[in-house]
Amino acid sequence: MEMDCADTAPAKLARQPAQSIDQLAEKLSLYLDTDQIQLVRRAYYYAEQAHDQQRRRSGEPYIIHPLAVAYILADMHMDHQSLMAAMLHDVIEDTGISKEALGEQFGETVADLVDGVSKLTQIKFGSRAEAQAENFQKMALAMAEDIRVILVKLADRLHNMRTLGVLRPDKRRRIAKETLEMYGPIANRLGMNNIRIEFEELGFQALHPMRAERVKAAVMASRGNRKEILEKIRTAIANHLKQEALNAEVYGREKHLYSIYQKMRSKKKSFSNIMDVYAYRIIVDSADSCYRALGAIHSLYKPVQGHFKDYVAIPKSNGYQSLHTVLFGMHGVPIEIQIRTKEMDEMANNGIAAHWLYKSDDPNSSLSGSHTRARQWVQGLLEMQQRAGNSLEFIENVKIDLFPDEVYVFTPKGNILELSQGSTAVDFAYAVHTDVGSRCVACRINRRLAPLSEQLQSGQTIEIITAPGAKPNPGWLNFVVTGKARSNIRHFLKNQRHTESIELGQRLLNKALASLGSSIDKLSEKQINQILNDTGHNSFDTILEDIGLGNRVAYITARQLMDAIDQAGQGDAPDSPETSTKPLIISGTEGMMISFARCCHPIPGDPIIGHLSAGRGVVVHAEACKNMTEFRENRSKCMALRWADKVEGEFIVELRVELEQQKGIIALLATKINSLDANIEKISVEEKDARFSIVHLEITVHNRIHLARIMKRLRSILSIGRVSRIKNSASWRRKLSP
Ligand code: MN
Repeated sequence: MEMDCADTAPAKLARQPAQSIDQLAEKLSLYLDTDQIQLVRRAYYYAEQAHDQQRRRSGEPYIIHPLAVAYILADMHMDHQSLMAAMLHDVIEDTGISKEALGEQFGETVADLVDGVSKLTQIKFGSRAEAQAENFQKMALAMAEDIRVILVKLADRLHNMRTLGVLRPDKRRRIAKETLEMYGPIANRLGMNNIRIEFEELGFQALHPMRAERVKAAVMASRGNRKEILEKIRTAIANHLKQEALNAEVYGREKHLYSIYQKMRSKKKSFSNIMDVYAYRIIVDSADSCYRALGAIHSLYKPVQGHFKDYVAIPKSNGYQSLHTVLFGMHGVPIEIQIRTKEMDEMANNGIAAHWLYKSDDPNSSLSGSHTRARQWVQGLLEMQQRAGNSLEFIENVKIDLFPDEVYVFTPKGNILELSQGSTAVDFAYAVHTDVGSRCVACRINRRLAPLSEQLQSGQTIEIITAPGAKPNPGWLNFVVTGKARSNIRHFLKNQRHTESIELGQRLLNKALASLGSSIDKLSEKQINQILNDTGHNSFDTILEDIGLGNRVAYITARQLMDAIDQAGQGDAPDSPETSTKPLIISGTEGMMISFARCCHPIPGDPIIGHLSAGRGVVVHAEACKNMTEFRENRSKCMALRWADKVEGEFIVELRVELEQQKGIIALLATKINSLDANIEKISVEEKDARFSIVHLEITVHNRIHLARIMKRLRSILSIGRVSRIKNSASWRRKLSP
């Protein structure tokens, strides 16, 4: 019974074929001046000339297409410059006329618009993810310069979607997919619901013709049964509103095919389940009347708890305003109601385009509000781009941002914050302030202590508890949903990695220097300058970072440093490498730059050896690990390691347990392990024969002594046979790249 403002409105954009410039001019005379219309005509003749010999795939002269695009924009009452740009939008791309030439003919603004649209046209979505991301950045930049660029582009795409039938099936599918994935969400973000719905309907039909046909047939079949009830309820509502002296129009709403299809898929509902809802829209004359109509409706039918939403007081981020409620109708039939004013309805259908359609000078009007919101959105995109480390990260954040299903929550002081659906306290904290986000340690939801990962619901009051010196947790990336939280956490981790790799580099270099009778503290300025010179690095820290990341070998760097003074005739010749194998101590608290190999799962107590892996720092292997065979003699890849006397943390080991089939034996095994202060990370059972099974386990332990105790206790269970530790997992051997 989830109600979605955007899923039911019938597409209202007129679909008359664009026949002639004269017809268009007549249409424009309703809202443009004569000289403005004259300019549009001039652009038309210019484009007609330029595309002279070109034809569309349908065989029609090419000019049909720009004319049709201008028609779509005329329906939205777009200004004359947008219409001129529509006429000329393919000229630069397809005819070789330059932007400068257009500028001389029609002025800079129109030339810029055409240029912007052309750049968007060159963008091919759905290619490699990276290219797609860069393209989207270009799109955001073009929109930021003049939002009309995207409106012309959307109209262009709409006409192409309407005439998709003439294309080859593979091309048709590619364009349809791109429309559903990119242009639909953009139209939605700009509140242009009519266009979005048409994109979705046409895209659905082109991408999944069979499924579209089936859903359509089902809708037709169910319509007969519903029609009577639908009308009965509609009349009841209309009459009741009239009795309450409310001037209101009541419409029944039909769900469109793509939204039915998506609901069936995403909510796993049956077709009849979705169709069993009766939906209406009530249009009234003022915001005040919206609430009066709501009161009247609630006295006619009982409202369903928890389904009332007030987007009039708090509009959605794309400017959408409406009251939503769900009622129990006769015989318990659910009825969805949307109540809004005429102006809000225009806003809901045309979004940002309503700004041109109803030139409203009232700054409080929802129409001019939509324009401001669109600007804010584009501005936000640009900021996100600056923060993101690369374009893939950017597009991920944008994609999140393109599907704005919000929740509204309160700060302890009563301020409202709007967050994406599924947001958690961490998202909230970052929305309040970056510092609050990065220092948050706990939260209260409606005064109750709650996990930071809990999803927030509209209406809750959220209090964030921060601690000085607290740091973002990498695990948060698993549940945050807002672009802002995600990009900030990633940014922090990048820095963190940087600091930790410098620290590790320092330790590694010191160890190598120690074998040569020196240390970092003892290095002279001359030595450091010499190595910066030799390596082309501009700071010693980046050299240390490189060592920590495993991109540079500590021992060789140490030799280079010592050679620098040897040349100057100071110091002794370095010792041979063999004497320098004092192991590095591993305590388990080193952070991200020390990791533990998943092929041999070393645990404290095992003899270990380090593998310097480029970009990943030191990977700790068991000394006997088969994967290390080829590196063991290679000084530049390997290093001696030793566990600290007291090691922190838990380490994974793999066990193989043979047992006799018996009811409840797996449960018994699991309980036993848990009771011994170990966690089971993974368990899989492999049947040997009807009587015996082999169980593979991954459990966490503190060290060898802990493990030995666990193995001993397991063996004491009657139906358990052999228990052994696996030291070179076959599954990992294959996956490990040297
Ligand atoms: Mn075009």
